[in-house]
Amino acid sequence: MYKRSISSAAVALVTILAISCGSGGGVGDFNLISIEEEWQLGQQLSQDVAKQVRFNNDPAVNAYVKQVGQRIIAQTPAPFNQLPWDFHVVEDPSLNAFAIPGGHVYVNTGLIANAENASELAGVMAHEISHVTARHTTEQISRQYGLSVLAGLVLGQDPGALQQIAAQIVAGGALARFSRDAEREADDLGIQAMARAGYDPRGMAAMFRVLLAHSQSNPGRVEQFFATHPTTEDRIRDAENRAAQMGTPAGAITDEPAFQDARRRVT
Ligand SMILES: [Zn+2]
Repeated sequence: MYKRSISSAAVALVTILAISCGSGGGVGDFNLISIEEEWQLGQQLSQDVAKQVRFNNDPAVNAYVKQVGQRIIAQTPAPFNQLPWDFHVVEDPSLNAFAIPGGHVYVNTGLIANAENASELAGVMAHEISHVTARHTTEQISRQYGLSVLAGLVLGQDPGALQQIAAQIVAGGALARFSRDAEREADDLGIQAMARAGYDPRGMAAMFRVLLAHSQSNPGRVEQFFATHPTTEDRIRDAENRAAQMGTPAGAITDEPAFQDARRRVT
């Protein structure tokens, strides 16, 4: 109801702005939010997400997920590799991970428990991180909400809209659904970042295979991931081909004891 009342004005504004800017980038790169604003928005959104999920508080699990995340972040382009990121472990048996604007990455205990090795966890985390560095969510918010609402969001003047966005992201709603192109881009950027971070790039496709297997044996447990990240056999093969072309350097991490320790702790 609330959304409907704001959306027509927002669409009009976005249209005007898009016409008046009229340069640079495709429609897909339309973004009204600066990176600085995105990090402010993320602070507020993460507080709303915190009200809607239950966190896992095991220090060893959290430290491990953070360590994997930071290794990958170090391999992302500036300014992202210099910004503060937050990694959260969510106590939830579903196999899911998601990221919200401003560098907040969430990994479910169910994903850690069902990953076979460190490179699989790193693959999904690198994918989520890349949705942020490619700015997919803020592009979507820009298209969906428009300038008038965004100004209020960034200034914290519109807590209702913030909560709505946070709720949609957590529930895997329309806002968080990525296009196939966005998925391809996140896979491509992610696999490069995870490989530079020292992880076996084959882990990304391997984790998608685990997710796909669950979609047959236990569909409810992967519903959110598939709703937000369209995952097809084609996409998995692309990730496998990419990894094959890149090759796996000697010493690349496929597994590490800290991963298996974290996995035991959440199982
Ligand atoms: Zn995705």
